[in-house]
Amino acid sequence: MAKFIVGLTGGIGSGKTTVANLFAELGIPIVDADLVARDVVAPGSHGLQAIVNHFGVDILTPNGELDRAKLRALIFSQGEEREWLNQLLHPMIRQEMFNQVKNAHSDYVIIVAPLLFENGLDKLVNRTLVVDISPELQVSRTVKRDNVDATQVNSIISSQCSRSEKLAKADDVIDNQGEVSALKQEVHALHQRYLQLSGTHIAHD
Ligand code: ADP
Repeated sequence: MAKFIVGLTGGIGSGKTTVANLFAELGIPIVDADLVARDVVAPGSHGLQAIVNHFGVDILTPNGELDRAKLRALIFSQGEEREWLNQLLHPMIRQEMFNQVKNAHSDYVIIVAPLLFENGLDKLVNRTLVVDISPELQVSRTVKRDNVDATQVNSIISSQCSRSEKLAKADDVIDNQGEVSALKQEVHALHQRYLQLSGTHIAHD
């Protein structure tokens, strides 16, 4: 039986985590693409072993973890290596995310993925939900959260698909430009909707 999956996305600092936490409070399992991406290269994983086989042990920190800064620098300057890494990791990440979905016990599951559209994951979910705020708010909230400078945030924003593209592709949109307290009501309404949709989805399966 295929489970009903909602893909939650939004640009950096839009409020994906904040929204996902509200769904989690309602008992909905959250599969976080960023966490899965970390798990597939954790010490002892096949992913990390494959990276070491390819790049050599210098890609590890002294305590045996993946040296992300080194890897980033390597793939930044070498397109072919970036391609190799993507070919290795994307299927692993996908597989693990869908294992987690399969093992969840609930009417529907939410996948949180910052690059849902960019990585084509939107094609594998039943419905997409975009958390939307202006780029100005993205910058100010991210600067405050991560203590980074605005230039850095702006360059991340421009590497992600644009606000209008995301909105055009979204089935549902949560406007997060107001107070956090306003989100609860929107999440509750969407939850009801997803329960309804997942019921129909299973009946037709
Ligand atoms: P994302 O997961 O999309 O990067 P977060 O959920 O971490 O975004 O939100 C970014 C930051 O903005 C966090 O520090 C969060 O607490 C804060 N935040 C989220 N929603 C609001 C809001 N409506 N008003 C003010 N701050 C918010």
